[in-house]
Amino acid sequence: MSNSSNLYNNLLKDAIENRNKLSNKTIVEIRKLYDNVANDLVKKLSTAKGGFTKAWLADYERYVRYKMLELDNELIGLTRDSIKSSAEIAASVQGDFINYINNKYNLNIDNKIIQFAYNTNSKVIGQIIQGDFYKDNRSLSDRIWTYSNGTMKDIQYVLAKGMAEQKSYLEMIKDLEKYVSPGAKKDWEFNKVYPNLKNKRVDYNAQRLLRTSMNHMFYCQNVDNAKNNPYAEAMHWQLSAEHGVRQVNRFGEDECDDYANNDYYNLGQGNFPINKVPVPHPNCLCTQTIIISKSLDEIGRELGQWINGKDIKYLDEWLKVA
Ligand SMILES: [Zn+2]
Repeated sequence: MSNSSNLYNNLLKDAIENRNKLSNKTIVEIRKLYDNVANDLVKKLSTAKGGFTKAWLADYERYVRYKMLELDNELIGLTRDSIKSSAEIAASVQGDFINYINNKYNLNIDNKIIQFAYNTNSKVIGQIIQGDFYKDNRSLSDRIWTYSNGTMKDIQYVLAKGMAEQKSYLEMIKDLEKYVSPGAKKDWEFNKVYPNLKNKRVDYNAQRLLRTSMNHMFYCQNVDNAKNNPYAEAMHWQLSAEHGVRQVNRFGEDECDDYANNDYYNLGQGNFPINKVPVPHPNCLCTQTIIISKSLDEIGRELGQWINGKDIKYLDEWLKVA
């Protein structure tokens, strides 16, 4: 591997770590949001002094709806920001790479080009948020609303069942608490009493959506970087270090093994033309690395000559895009 590929892919590795740190941190925030809603819902339920009359429950449902709308808005904002940050983290790989070469060889590359290297693809950000990226075309907010609808139905179900079975006031509060608290463990007994719950864990969907959309964004921006890097020749499917333990030993090989072990395009094993890299499946931990065959010295020399007026066609093209 050339030292330029090495540099680029090390920057990529750091970026992936940063992205994972950010998604873990955001998931803690998501959990807090659910915790707060859970506290409010339980507190409000405890105020039913006159017992759970139909009128009181109708009122309570309105309160639940209001709390869920509030939660939705916060989740949408949080997830949207995280998608944008994921794009920025991925784009920084390209920016830092060009910047490194610029400094190492004192090139004085036009600031416009350096900025271009750090740019995120706002079109793809929009497609992931608006849903055009996905086959079902569903937007981020639409998905989050659907989760909340499920949660609201579940809450109604728990309360209706408790009333029908004439559970005590305290039992009903305890059951609701068990359902709405992201941290509370729903034991076998609970799931047996409420077999028709849509969500087994109240915050699971929001967490999964956050991770998946951040990963999709990162993948798209990473491919976009390669497209806009005049020295990138191909991309390489690199299996995650945990692929053997998490996937192969337990379930056998999956499509990632196909991608990593085949040479579909005569570019070498596991290599793909930049516009043909497959989209990773959900929860995939593989990395799409970049292949650059020119060394840092060669790239530095060439860029230097180009800046000093030499005609280099693909660098002229690059300037046009920037
Ligand atoms: Zn994979």
